[in-house]
Amino acid sequence: MSKRKAEIAGGGIGGLALGALLARQGWQVQVHEQGAEIREVGAGIYIKNNSLEVLENLGVMARIQPLGTELEFAQIQFADGTVKQQRRLAGASRVHTFARQTLIEGLRDVALDAGVQVRTHSRVRGVHGGALLTENGKFEADLVVGADGVHSAVRTSLNVGGGFTELPTLIDRFLIPTRRFTPQARTVEHWSGNRRIGVTPAGKDHTYVYMVAPFADQAAARLPLDVEDWSRRFPLLRELFVELAEAPATQYPYGIVKCPKWAVGNVAILGDAAHGLPPTLGQGAGLTLMNAYALASLLQGAADVPAALRDWERRVRFISDRTQAWACRYDSFTRGCPQALGFLRPLVVWGFGRFRFLNDRMRVADHGLRLAGIPVPSQVQAC
Ligand SMILES: Cc1cc2nc3c(=O)[nH]c(=O)nc-3n(C[C@H](O)[C@H](O)[C@H](O)COP(=O)(O)OP(=O)(O)OC[C@H]3O[C@@H](n4cnc5c(N)ncnc54)[C@H](O)[C@@H]3O)c2cc1C
Repeated sequence: MSKRKAEIAGGGIGGLALGALLARQGWQVQVHEQGAEIREVGAGIYIKNNSLEVLENLGVMARIQPLGTELEFAQIQFADGTVKQQRRLAGASRVHTFARQTLIEGLRDVALDAGVQVRTHSRVRGVHGGALLTENGKFEADLVVGADGVHSAVRTSLNVGGGFTELPTLIDRFLIPTRRFTPQARTVEHWSGNRRIGVTPAGKDHTYVYMVAPFADQAAARLPLDVEDWSRRFPLLRELFVELAEAPATQYPYGIVKCPKWAVGNVAILGDAAHGLPPTLGQGAGLTLMNAYALASLLQGAADVPAALRDWERRVRFISDRTQAWACRYDSFTRGCPQALGFLRPLVVWGFGRFRFLNDRMRVADHGLRLAGIPVPSQVQAC
């Protein structure tokens, strides 16, 4: 019997993970990446329990775990140093951090080992009649997947409506080669008014820092960062700012993707292309990996690919929709809470720490695919 064929647009976290999962099931898989190589833009990344389950299953964690940090606690601290929330990161709340490049290289290597063909310099233009169109030609397949990020050409060509909207929040990210500011396995989010700073270890020798502020806050947007301005808001972090002012940064606006349909015929939309969300909960890659696993799992042995894709969306979509809604609430609460209601912030932060069910609701995705009745065995399955 000839192998089933999948053409995937995008060599990011979603495209590589799905490619590896399908290839392991015996599919012939080609991933089209527009860039010259597989690489990540950005600094560090939080990998939550739901991502970890999939990465363990794929055998990626076995390769990269020593290069990351297993966190023990997450804290929210206000600018005067008071800890308003502390959560222990264990069980369904476990979190590891990595440099982004470490994660993508782990996924790339597992995909290549599983037999995935990665075609770089291959820019996708969209889909037509169930085939993938690139600048180099047309690729017929049993399954076509758009894992091509928030500005997905595949999604646009399907005319399903929705699309990408920029949000009025800006984030700067840094990866600095020191653990001087992060000797413990703990991630701290510092809050001052409507600015936030996350500081976390990411491996033995690195610290990942993100700094978030409203778009309209022009002083916060300056790069290299304005040490005096940030120090006025976070006096206890001055030393860190001095170090960051010398470090390379990436700057992004937050964004959100609305995609009314994830499956049309034999075409599926995966990852940020389907549900891009503000990174407030550190769950974009988590949802992407979970949904990739669920898709591969529901396609296993399915004779009717379009029916399996419809089933996939019906079973897993609610987790992404709820997480996206909470990620947006977190963003607007931290960015837009009027000064007059500032007294509410510590109360809300404390409440979410004190009452577990609130955090569990917001962090629904952490619980993974068991919510959709799709178990993810931790052992690596044979190819
Ligand atoms: C500031 C920030 C912080 C974040 N922090 C976290 C975090 O801590 N934890 C977490 O889980 N998530 C986080 N995320 C989200 C996470 O990065 C994304 O959800 C994840 O990368 C999505 O993977 P993807 O494969 O769907 O898309 P992408 O990572 O965007 O990959 C898409 C790939 O497709 C390629 N491509 C695009 N268009 C084309 C085309 N036309 N033809 C061919 N190739 C194409 C791109 O070059 C890219 O390689 C964060 C996001 C941001 C912006």
